[in-house]
Amino acid sequence: MDDFTKLPGHLSDGSLFHRPSRVEAERAVATLIRWAGEDPGREGLIDTPARVARAYEEWFAGYGEDPEQLLQRTFEEVAGYDEMVLLRDIRFVSHCEHHMAPIVGRVHIGYLPRNRVVGISKLIRLVEVFARRLQIQERITAEIANTLDRVLQPQGVAVVVEGTHGCMTSRGVNQAAATLVTSRMLGVFRDRPETRQEFLAAIELRGAARGTNALDRE
Ligand SMILES: [Zn+2]
Repeated sequence: MDDFTKLPGHLSDGSLFHRPSRVEAERAVATLIRWAGEDPGREGLIDTPARVARAYEEWFAGYGEDPEQLLQRTFEEVAGYDEMVLLRDIRFVSHCEHHMAPIVGRVHIGYLPRNRVVGISKLIRLVEVFARRLQIQERITAEIANTLDRVLQPQGVAVVVEGTHGCMTSRGVNQAAATLVTSRMLGVFRDRPETRQEFLAAIELRGAARGTNALDRE
């Protein structure tokens, strides 16, 4: 787990900034506790700002890692294997960038290798790098697919993400059971319906992610 203070922050124009100190972050949490109407000095809350800061270091650890580097290190020979590689039900926890509320769900990744494959643990780490940031689900989906496509250069990549959003299940529209499904299909998964269908059948989402995805538009 990283101490955020040692790492630079990244502005959207690419420039770097010094992150606030841990003490500043803890003070901000204490301010939120007071704002909610509570006493941050109460026994049960006294260590809460420090705990929240440590939790944030875990939930937002993805900013300190380069997803392409992660994949670059572990290419393997495929010994003629040319069928679909599928890893389904990768659990993830992310946070929505609109409310900083949790997004909890599963990612399914499929690809058809051309020359190389990547270790299972690297696929899981790739999901974590993108999930441990402030996100929208559509972007996590696209980032996972695009990174795999760029680095592995397979014949195709398919990514489906199912997520429940804390900002929707616990407040606002209060839709406790609603699940958002997003997908990105590249290469043969986009061009060949039977390949896409094989993937969707394997993750038991047949039809659910077919042809209706804003992110599939080029
Ligand atoms: Zn939200």
